[in-house]
Amino acid sequence: MATHVVENQPPPLENYNVFASDRALNDAIAYVAPDASTGEMAALGEVAGRGDVIALGFDANEHPPALHTHDRFGNRVDEVRFHPAWHALLSHATRAGLHGTPWQDARPFAHLRRAVKFYVWGQVESGHGCPISMTYAAVPVLRAERELAEWTAPLTQPEYDPRLIPIAAKRAGLCGMGMTEKQGGSDVRANTTRAEPAAARGPGREYRLRGHKWFCSAPMSDAFLVLAQTGKGLSCFLVPRVLPDGTRNAFAIARLKDKLGNRSNASAEVEFDSTAGWLIGGEGEGLARIVEMVNSTRLDCAIGSAALQRAALVAAIHHATYRRAFGKTLIEHPLMQNVLADLALESEAAMALCVRIARAVDDSAGEERAALRRIGTALGKYYVCKRAPVVVGEALECLGGNGYVEESVMPRLYREAPLNSIWEGSGNINALDVLRILRKQPDALAAWRDEVAPALAEPRIAAHAQRLESELRDPALGEAQARDVAERMAQLWQAALLLAYAPAEVSDAFVASRMGGEHGRTLGTLPAGTALRTIVERAAI
Ligand SMILES: Cc1cc2nc3c(=O)[nH]c(=O)nc-3n(C[C@H](O)[C@H](O)[C@H](O)COP(=O)(O)OP(=O)(O)OC[C@H]3O[C@@H](n4cnc5c(N)ncnc54)[C@H](O)[C@@H]3O)c2cc1C
Repeated sequence: MATHVVENQPPPLENYNVFASDRALNDAIAYVAPDASTGEMAALGEVAGRGDVIALGFDANEHPPALHTHDRFGNRVDEVRFHPAWHALLSHATRAGLHGTPWQDARPFAHLRRAVKFYVWGQVESGHGCPISMTYAAVPVLRAERELAEWTAPLTQPEYDPRLIPIAAKRAGLCGMGMTEKQGGSDVRANTTRAEPAAARGPGREYRLRGHKWFCSAPMSDAFLVLAQTGKGLSCFLVPRVLPDGTRNAFAIARLKDKLGNRSNASAEVEFDSTAGWLIGGEGEGLARIVEMVNSTRLDCAIGSAALQRAALVAAIHHATYRRAFGKTLIEHPLMQNVLADLALESEAAMALCVRIARAVDDSAGEERAALRRIGTALGKYYVCKRAPVVVGEALECLGGNGYVEESVMPRLYREAPLNSIWEGSGNINALDVLRILRKQPDALAAWRDEVAPALAEPRIAAHAQRLESELRDPALGEAQARDVAERMAQLWQAALLLAYAPAEVSDAFVASRMGGEHGRTLGTLPAGTALRTIVERAAI
């Protein structure tokens, strides 16, 4: 006789269209780019919700990569072996054109379409998004260097080719980056890795690197943009794993990091010793080149964090829909509705901000729009990433004990949640970047003001904006206030976006709680009278 009967447990959350079921996302796209075609997004959304694809995310994390420094004969190989699920995820992501493809896509809204797909696909698994994002970001930097043009084409092909062979022979490729050293991460000027010319100096020429990188993720990528010092200062180099003659470049992987999360992905410590690298831009221009790359990866960090929030929210609503307690489903309990509605507001606002900034990337050829992209990326990276651990933590609790157990997706989302705020410039660095932009680029502040201006007719938003403007005008405004300024600017922009396109129940609740001072310090503290049920229904799949 059975010792127990399984009841009052939800069915698996699978086989739904991640894109089509997301009403908020569809509304936001219709607002920022009404002419954008959404066919590819819906097709990827269908794949992202499939049970077998969701299983890939679990497999890739349950079987983390393993380092093999030597072969059985004692030769150095410095290879990392991954579970087949990792390769399958990268296959899907590259086929969907999430890496370098938008840079050679002449159709309108190429970057917006890619950003939305990155958001949809990010809900499957985050770790493999790292090489995808770095490759996306490396392409414009490489494209600017004529001598290295042969590198660009494979990075934009919608294919996955994991072979370690010369780039000229590859159908497709991936690219990483190496900036961080032991003595300097945020402060990359402290880098000590040195580069000397192999023969002649100058852009596109070969140099030899000696030194190390303390973090170098996705070490099986085909090449890396690496910072090293020359006589003229910090410079940027393309360092391939395999040299054009087919021999391996000197790229010793000392060990892999044992990380809190992001376990499907490998993050290595590497040593360079007479390692060949080709100069990108001039000597001493390394920071400018890498900032170009980082501006794209930073937006991906924000999108990735919005995707984590959405994935956690959907799982929480799903659980609360089926689980019964005290005579009714959890979702029928008013206080659970308040928690879920508050999570939904945060998730939608995060997504809307990302979608708006992604649209600005498509527009960034114009000077005014480039300014909006610049300030938007810093604000989005700071604020959306900062909210992810809070949102995911609260959503996890909606599943009760089930949310704390590894068979659930929640522990993986929770471990992943702080990461996007750390890499590519951690929270303080991005908040300080906002301050720097405000001081040095008045056109960026003007572009942001244009975005929020239509919302100032709403008195609570106007009051919030007034407080912020007086803070901005204060001659004593210093670094210690950078987070406060960045948070207020991001929230104001979110409020303006929601007011422009979302149902009144959503924008009202966001403004009342985030602008009106009627919000507690925890989630689930929306004021009485909020249309909780409507907000949760909108967020449900
Ligand atoms: C999983 C993972 C993968 C990574 N992969 C890569 C990779 O592939 N390539 C790569 O180059 N790097 C990589 N990194 C490194 C990452 O980019 C750095 O960890 C990050 O930039 C922070 O640098 P740091 O660790 O040296 O911290 P630090 O620079 O020492 O910063 C520590 C803290 O001090 C704060 N801080 C620093 N300066 C200031 C200031 N002026 N004012 C106020 N606060 C400040 C920071 O915000 C942070 O909170 C990876 C990191 C992780 C965790």
